[in-house]
Amino acid sequence: MAEFNWCHNPGCHKIATHSRIRGTGNNKVLRTRKIALNSEYRRTTIWAYFCNQNCLFQFLNKFAREVANLNPTLKPKEMPIKVERWKEDTERMKYIGNGQYQRSPHQVTRTEIKLQNSTE
Ligand SMILES: [Zn+2]
Repeated sequence: MAEFNWCHNPGCHKIATHSRIRGTGNNKVLRTRKIALNSEYRRTTIWAYFCNQNCLFQFLNKFAREVANLNPTLKPKEMPIKVERWKEDTERMKYIGNGQYQRSPHQVTRTEIKLQNSTE
């Protein structure tokens, strides 16, 4: 397993930050950032491939069409659900003047969406 990846944003090396400077004397360059795969989180998330959100979104903006074509969505998908609604007695703070508040009864409507088995 590789211990690091290079940031996949093709423009990573064009972003002028101290962390990208490599070389000595008059032979300095801006280099694509190296991403250490030193944690489970790094190895299993999008951050294994991009050094930060700026690079991730530059990549997505440049390759949006190609990314979308990896998993085309030509029609909306649906998932069966059950919606339960109920009233619940609660309290809220009511301003009564002079910087004072008072608890007062209040009724709210709660909604719970229960997912059903989906075929997809
Ligand atoms: Zn980057």
